[in-house]
Amino acid sequence: MSKPERTSLELFRLKKALDTLAKKEGRGTELVSLYVPHGKQISEVLAMLRDEYGTASNIKSDTTRKNVQDAIVKVQQRLKLFKQVPKNGLVIFSGAIPQNGPGSERLETYVLEPLEPIKVYLYRCDAKFHLEYLQDQLREKEAYGIILMDANGASFALLKSKHLEVLQEITSGVPGKHRAGGQSARRFERQREAKLLEFFNRVGKHANEIFLQTLDLKGIILGGPGPTKYDFEKGDYLQYNLKDKIIAVLDTAYVDEQGVDEIMERAPEILRKVRYVEEKKLMQDFLYQIGHDTGLASYGEDEIRHALNTGAVKMLLLSEGIDIIRVTTKCNVCGYTLQETMKEQSLHVFEQNLLEQHCPKCNSQSLAVSEVKDIVEELAEIAEHANTEVEMISTETEEGQMLKNSFGGIAAILRFKLSR
Ligand SMILES: [Zn+2]
Repeated sequence: MSKPERTSLELFRLKKALDTLAKKEGRGTELVSLYVPHGKQISEVLAMLRDEYGTASNIKSDTTRKNVQDAIVKVQQRLKLFKQVPKNGLVIFSGAIPQNGPGSERLETYVLEPLEPIKVYLYRCDAKFHLEYLQDQLREKEAYGIILMDANGASFALLKSKHLEVLQEITSGVPGKHRAGGQSARRFERQREAKLLEFFNRVGKHANEIFLQTLDLKGIILGGPGPTKYDFEKGDYLQYNLKDKIIAVLDTAYVDEQGVDEIMERAPEILRKVRYVEEKKLMQDFLYQIGHDTGLASYGEDEIRHALNTGAVKMLLLSEGIDIIRVTTKCNVCGYTLQETMKEQSLHVFEQNLLEQHCPKCNSQSLAVSEVKDIVEELAEIAEHANTEVEMISTETEEGQMLKNSFGGIAAILRFKLSR
């Protein structure tokens, strides 16, 4: 069994976390990054951190020394919450981050579970967090088969994590279009057809041998100059489950390595398009339900919250383009809490205004923001608890733009109708 592919939500989360972390910069060399692979003993890592704490006592600057040691203590505390290292390993970042100019540093700590197993065991103290090993995981991991062909020959290649793994070339043995003198035209044509058929069968056999045993084969790209590739595509030369995986048929100038290079250059664009096609399909399904008033679609924050809580959501569609947050306000005297949704950029003014407001329950002036959550993250968590599928939709397609602009970026396909 191949492992399940990473969901659009997992990728979105990691990307967002890394974008946020990449912006963090320490005052000096005082941000701690820790990568622990699965199988490492927690006690061993804690011992290493104790040593690092000791070494840090030699730092001359009082502030830097305190910040580094505080960060190490935080990492130790977080690490102790784990009995063992999770199967993909564990990554912890901690450090004093200036919030608003020098002197405003606040200790921030982040614990991440990688999407795939990490292999490095690393402790670093630097002016920035070390993100490169996690950034690697955002790269395309699935494999794509490439078949290039024309009447003269074919090449096969396997594209995996941006690397080319297999390259094989075969020739067709099909004679050119011009017959030798003295040969009957019909007989020549028949022979050529037979040779071509035999070649197509051989291409299919090669492709089956190479690609059927490839784990995580996400798709096949067919290319070459002229119409031969289309004739091949129409026939049943590939095993049906490979044929279903053809995601693009493209014109290339060459069928050899140069042709493979042509495909490689266009691969990111091709793969993005494949995802856009998936996104369009998801959105079209939603729009169909809306257009036909089937009652099996819903949108808007309140409606979706209600549908999620009733377990009615089959698939949650969230736009990557929304910047709405869910803010929890808490009274520090009586514990009264209130949750509100707002634009990300309104938070600062909202916090300022809170200082002058009175608690609706005890009337004291002690209201403060206690939690801020991305609405995508908040809804996705509710969905995950209900075993509901979540798809992140980019704003790169017309349908994706509609989701963001016409439906508030939050929509769902329902399992059953909800009465209102
Ligand atoms: Zn109160």
